[in-house]
Amino acid sequence: MQKGTIGVTTDNIFPIIKKFLYSDHEIFLREVVSNAVDATQKLKTLSSVGEFKGELGTLDVRVAIDKEAGTLTISDSGVGMTADEIERYINQIAFSGAEEFVEKYKNDANAIIGHFGLGFYSTFMVSKKVEIRTLSFREGAKAVQWSCDGTPSFEMTEIEKANRGTDIILYIDDENKEFLETQRVETLLRKYCRFLPVPIIFGKEQEWKDGKYVDTDVDKVINNLTPAWTRKPTELTDEDYREFYHEICPGADEPLFWIHLNVDYPFNLTGILYFPKIKSNLDLNRYKIQLYCNQVYVTDSVEGVVPDFLMLLQGVIDSPDIPLNVSRSYLQSDSNVKKISTYITKKVADRLQEIFNSDRKQFEEKWNDIKLFIEYGMLSDEKFYERAAKFALLQNTDAKFFTFEEYKNIIAAEQTDKDGNLIYLYATDKTAQYSYIEAATARGYDVLLMDGQLDSHYIGMLEQKFEKSRFVRVDSDVVDNLIRKENSREVKLTTQEREAMTTVFKSQIPTIEKGEFMVMFEALGENSAPVMITQSEYMRRMKEMAAVQPGMSFYGELPDTFNLIVNTDHPLCKKVLADTDVACNEAIAPIVSKLDAVNAEIARLNNERKDKKDEEIPVADKEALRNAENEAAYLRKQQEGVYSEYAQNNNLVKQLIDLALLSNNMLRGEALSRFVKRSFDML
Ligand code: ADP
Ligand code: MG
Repeated sequence: MQKGTIGVTTDNIFPIIKKFLYSDHEIFLREVVSNAVDATQKLKTLSSVGEFKGELGTLDVRVAIDKEAGTLTISDSGVGMTADEIERYINQIAFSGAEEFVEKYKNDANAIIGHFGLGFYSTFMVSKKVEIRTLSFREGAKAVQWSCDGTPSFEMTEIEKANRGTDIILYIDDENKEFLETQRVETLLRKYCRFLPVPIIFGKEQEWKDGKYVDTDVDKVINNLTPAWTRKPTELTDEDYREFYHEICPGADEPLFWIHLNVDYPFNLTGILYFPKIKSNLDLNRYKIQLYCNQVYVTDSVEGVVPDFLMLLQGVIDSPDIPLNVSRSYLQSDSNVKKISTYITKKVADRLQEIFNSDRKQFEEKWNDIKLFIEYGMLSDEKFYERAAKFALLQNTDAKFFTFEEYKNIIAAEQTDKDGNLIYLYATDKTAQYSYIEAATARGYDVLLMDGQLDSHYIGMLEQKFEKSRFVRVDSDVVDNLIRKENSREVKLTTQEREAMTTVFKSQIPTIEKGEFMVMFEALGENSAPVMITQSEYMRRMKEMAAVQPGMSFYGELPDTFNLIVNTDHPLCKKVLADTDVACNEAIAPIVSKLDAVNAEIARLNNERKDKKDEEIPVADKEALRNAENEAAYLRKQQEGVYSEYAQNNNLVKQLIDLALLSNNMLRGEALSRFVKRSFDML
């Protein structure tokens, strides 16, 4: 028997292992099972190159629990180790600067294990004693047993062992009894070892017999040895891809598309990414992309490896070149990882382009399910924008799809304004903006539907990307003004008539919470609606942005400002004007003549003081001006009073306003029921 001390320069590495690697205890199983798989693969390689001439036999890895003995054993029939090799690979572990490093990464077991090549030693996180019983494949080799009880000293003896290979026997310590539970161990094996390339056997398959489950004598294999991503794309059918998807995302809907990744230069990467069908936000984080290293599961947090906008995809990525065992911040700055991320972005774009080219109909059908990914990608990644601009679709309110290029050509003739800008009209709500969409399409315009979650940002970006182009929401102005083709026609109203019409209409607008109205006049021709409501595109966008950007809350608190546009060409508006004149003339005429006189007086006084300094103006004149201004204000109030009193009984005005509100989905509650009642009265 040989006794010795494990070659560590730190006094005792075991307390460090136990103390610091608490968060990820379970990964010891991944480490020992993958060592067993490595040993098995090595033997296969040696056999294939003729260095091992014996029988390979069945090459599987067995995991077994012995509850009574309190052990978890991992056995393989791989290369095994000679005493010499144990000395070299197990005993001589170099821990340079161990303490410093451990302190830095104490919460990241992966980092520590990777740094020290500590895979095997991670077993001491959960064991009070570890035994290795091993017989090397080498001719004439003697079997050895190594054991260590968690101090830096070990024992090594020669033993009898009939079969080639290695048993690792873990004497699970009291705090980690969970690793003696069949359920727990099976769950871990399924998590980490599910796609390992050598059969992992854990217990027996069961069958239902006499009212309970009993073991059969068939070994239970935990893993799928050749998961789809390890096979050649040419060997796989669509059905294979779908089957694999359901294997990793049980219960999910059929995936929309998939992308098989396969590179070997300048880095190694394989994998399959799926575009999931997302029906609700609940589906968003249900399954993630899983990262593997040579078929060993590592993690499902792939930040940095996969660009943000593709984090919603599902599937697997397998790369021996991603430095898995280092910290996350390192991962994000690693240039290899960046290249991988760039590669994935390009592959995704290429694949989408390919589907677009080969099956546009299918692409259009799925557009609404994938547009979230694509718009997010275009917004966040310039390179992706350039690629996606060739297949990204715009959908119009007739549910027709166009590429950017196609759409531009379609609207060029009708929707170019007098300054040569191309105007993209869009709606965000087909129902609420129905009448505007109707008016625009009747005019020969096309209206896009932009009702996606990201569309307001997306529009902002497209406006910058497209040359000489603007996006205008279809309800932001009357149809004639959406696209200004010539200078607008003149409104022929006298000042007095403007005063009258403004008051008559303004006084009858029902109060709307957080809404303010300005009455405006436009000469829109006899065939346009008499009264319309619009909201300025600019103010609306400001408010929308304020809702998501804290710094802009000023805009958010402003009331919604709407324009009530009176079409002065419309016969009904002309009638309102004429009726008002007839009805109010008698009361208004004396007010107006007084007002004229007062205004003349104000003008005279202002004229007189024009070039004078304040102290040169006689006190009496100042007084006179103040009085005149007060009187003018009083007269205007009187005048407004006359008009609004008249308007109160003018059902036509009320009806015109309510109809405009109604077609904007703004007539609600009491105002709506008053409108209905009035409509019956007027019939
Ligand atoms: P790594 O796997 O990164 O080399 P480990 O600490 O996991 O580091 O293992 C150390 C070494 O011990 C391995 O490289 C291998 O030579 C040897 N070893 C561990 N487990 C086995 C096994 N089951 N069969 C043969 N050799 C093994
Ligand atoms: Mg290892």
